[in-house]
Amino acid sequence: MAELTDMTGKAFSRLRFESLLKRRFFFAEAFEIYRTSANAMADNRGLYDYGPPGCALQANIVNEWRNHFVIEENMMELDCTVITPEVVLKTSGHVDKFADWMSKDPVKGEYLRADHLIESVLEARLAKHRATDGEQKAGGLDDDTANEYGEILAKIDNYDGPALGELIKEHDIRNPNGNGEVLPPIPFNLMFKSTIGPSAAAPVYLRPETAQGQFLNFRRLLEFGQGTMPFASASIGKSYRNEISPRSGLLRVREFLMAEIEHYVDPATSKSHERFSEVEQINLPLLDKGTQLSGKTDIAIMSISEAVQMGLVENETLGYFLARVYLFLLNIGVDKSKLRFRQHLDNEMAHYAVDCWDAELLTSYGWIECVGCADRSAYDLSVHSKQTGTALVVKEPLAEPIEVEEWQATLDKKLLGPRFKKDAKKVEDAMASLEQETLENLGAELTEKAVITVPTEELTNGETSVELSGDICAIKKVTRIERLREYTPNVIEPSFGIGRILYSLLEHVYWYRPKDVARGVLSIPISVAPTKVLIVPLSNNASLQPVVKKLAARLRKLRISNNVDASSSSIGKRYARNDELGTPLGITIDFDTVSDGSITLRERDSTSQVRSSEDEIIQAVCSLVDGSESWEQVSQRLPAFTGQSQDD
Ligand code: AMP
Repeated sequence: MAELTDMTGKAFSRLRFESLLKRRFFFAEAFEIYRTSANAMADNRGLYDYGPPGCALQANIVNEWRNHFVIEENMMELDCTVITPEVVLKTSGHVDKFADWMSKDPVKGEYLRADHLIESVLEARLAKHRATDGEQKAGGLDDDTANEYGEILAKIDNYDGPALGELIKEHDIRNPNGNGEVLPPIPFNLMFKSTIGPSAAAPVYLRPETAQGQFLNFRRLLEFGQGTMPFASASIGKSYRNEISPRSGLLRVREFLMAEIEHYVDPATSKSHERFSEVEQINLPLLDKGTQLSGKTDIAIMSISEAVQMGLVENETLGYFLARVYLFLLNIGVDKSKLRFRQHLDNEMAHYAVDCWDAELLTSYGWIECVGCADRSAYDLSVHSKQTGTALVVKEPLAEPIEVEEWQATLDKKLLGPRFKKDAKKVEDAMASLEQETLENLGAELTEKAVITVPTEELTNGETSVELSGDICAIKKVTRIERLREYTPNVIEPSFGIGRILYSLLEHVYWYRPKDVARGVLSIPISVAPTKVLIVPLSNNASLQPVVKKLAARLRKLRISNNVDASSSSIGKRYARNDELGTPLGITIDFDTVSDGSITLRERDSTSQVRSSEDEIIQAVCSLVDGSESWEQVSQRLPAFTGQSQDD
């Protein structure tokens, strides 16, 4: 992989970048002061606390997300509980299938995620191979093996547990920590389990996604929206996954903020989306399934309408959301050249998905999935409906009533009760649940043999079927008039990990001033910047304080977040600190302010300044914050400040 560069084209140093984030308390490992060896906790990695700038940045990203999706698309927002009864997640398939493959190093007692282990070992071998310029030194690789490794890495997500086990054996993959052999991979369920109430009898889980709560409210949402289709629900909330070995900072954590959309569509018309024409010309960087399976990672740039027409992206609705996700990510400041949409390989897809594209962001940890866009078909609504007996369907009046021929079973209720007593309801339910094809076959059998056997739930005598004769049961073909069309909607789900987006964005906007690597800058767009304005009085002189207070109060009233730095550090140092915090604007108050009311406005990235009256500067700040003016426009309109540069 080519060397990662920052936004000015210089090599990206994670060490310097992470030291900045730590110094400015964007976030920190949770329970830090308990991390001494005496208090060592078993395994509490993957848990983080956000500090003041991290909290503000997260809140602003979430706010942009709500504006871009919930408000722009009239989505119905929900806030559902985290604690989820086992039956819900058993039904959704998570109890049985929400697992990653794990290999244990029996000597070190370490647990490793099998695919990540293989990736890291092969990547390290390839890096060494490149460093030796292809020379086949002792223990080195030949070019064929290097190519084979490249191909394995391109489709690493397509291997299941046994296949990962084969790779481990075949390529002698060992734990990089100590070089010990690892055991064959076994599945590890990622959900945190607990119990509820004092009896501790009922098992529960912390939700691994917000989606299930949304599906369970489908009926209410449909009613709330007065039956209008298509519609979308949205939810922002914490989710929990007991990751096997979280080692990539905020990118793989055990508790994280998710923002998820469930867009419900009629399967008969899901191919089209009402607003597709608004996005159809947008070019997206796509890495499709076929390319990955051929061992390559080349990105094709094409308009979303072309991708849908070619069948690369399954339908317009999925395409519409991919384009909207793209616009959202660019809007909050993600670097366009470090963004791609990668299609899932068949084995990689979650158990509920039929097609899936991830928005991936390039970071110093490689390409990271930040938004998953899955077509979940009618899977979730169907399984919950079946389990609960609650119809999770849309009913629409048909333009023209239609005649439907179907097989119908009837039971003689007068005989049913006396004959089956307590089991009568179970027999009735068993008959009602029979599919059309089974009914047809049973109908023929009843005519021929005058008796049929029907499977049931366990009856009081321990049997799991009953014999029904023609006197009590009839199966006939009937014709009925249908006036309503009934269907289970398909669901398109864009699912955002806010922490991953936040971290990747910070990597993308980080750079340092040309002559000083220690002077880092975070060019966070003004719309999401933690604090919009820094106010710096030139000195601690009492005459400046009323002006500072008044200015801060005026900005507060306008809901423009600001900080006053009245410390004794030089102005340059105070600005440098705020460049690291990503504060886009700085206002300097000096002695001239007291006499003529003028103040200086500085822009973070260019460090250029303008000077004008307080009113004019505040008006400029407002238009910069609401995006109606750019810095170029402001600096052409207002006089440049040519006094001493405060960044010296
Ligand atoms: P998934 O349901 O696995 O597609 O995940 C949806 C989104 O949640 C991903 O695109 C990530 O942004 C985020 N996510 C999943 N797992 C984690 C994790 N362990 N730490 C942080 N974010 C995560």
